[in-house]
Amino acid sequence: MSLLIIGTTALDSIKTPHQENPRLLGGSASHAAVAASFFTPVHLMGIVGDDFPDTYIQLYEKHGIDLSGLERASGNTFHWEGEYEVNMNNRRTLETDLGVIENWTPSVPTALKHSEYVLLANCAPQLQHHILRQMIQPRFVAVDTMDLWLNIARQELESLLKEVDCLVLNDSEARQLMEEDNVVKAVQAMHRFGPRQVIVKKGEHGAILSGPDGLFIAPAYPLDQVVDPTGAGDSFVGGMMGYLAHHGGDVAKHLRAAIIHGSITASFCCEGFGLNTTTETTRALIDQRVEKLKGMVGY
Ligand code: AMP
Repeated sequence: MSLLIIGTTALDSIKTPHQENPRLLGGSASHAAVAASFFTPVHLMGIVGDDFPDTYIQLYEKHGIDLSGLERASGNTFHWEGEYEVNMNNRRTLETDLGVIENWTPSVPTALKHSEYVLLANCAPQLQHHILRQMIQPRFVAVDTMDLWLNIARQELESLLKEVDCLVLNDSEARQLMEEDNVVKAVQAMHRFGPRQVIVKKGEHGAILSGPDGLFIAPAYPLDQVVDPTGAGDSFVGGMMGYLAHHGGDVAKHLRAAIIHGSITASFCCEGFGLNTTTETTRALIDQRVEKLKGMVGY
């Protein structure tokens, strides 16, 4: 079954203690779409400006991603600039230029309105809600967000959360949303906003799911070198949704395996800048790492 992903299709300028890389292909929807493409056909909705290189369009095409919902407008593509400290868990946003996405009020193409799996990847909650209102009886909707939207669009986010099945966010955002330091308490308390499934991403420490079947703890794949973790969270949720869409049927039955596959897909993302290593991955390599991880947690 296919998956609709909407979010930012961006140019990212990323600084780490070792390297600087300007205007790489990035954005929540780009990372999520490439990650999901290893599992299922993906339809991407986004908007880019006239500065968006054709080579990046070719990268989406290499992954068989349907671009019928990708618009091109005159103006700048969403641009995000971030800097990592020596401890790569700490990053600062230096600049966010919304560009052409700021005034975008997209219409979901008729052929995509019946998509059963929908990922509202990180972008303005108003935009995520605008897309969701156009969908016709989706089976499973997940939403990802970040601190910027908690700070400037909290009410819009809370109104969206009443209508989605799954909320995904990272641990500092969960603490911020719930004003609760303990992540286990925070993940369980977030159900009160609406979603039956809540997932907190904890970077190199994995992820926690809270749902009707209780808690599930997923480890991250241990990497001896992290080059650039940008997009790891988006790759995680993209891989997870791709896995769910591929399997169809009862989401609750597949969700734990989907989280493990999302976590492994994210590990490839961290090994290179931007999408450089994710795009070289294959489903077979992902499955190999899943098996290795199983061996590491078995006892
Ligand atoms: P992650 O590392 O998973 O948190 O995601 C990083 C990606 O999110 C980058 O590729 C950015 O282009 C994108 N991004 C950064 N800020 C925002 C924002 N405010 N809204 C949507 N996407 C963003």
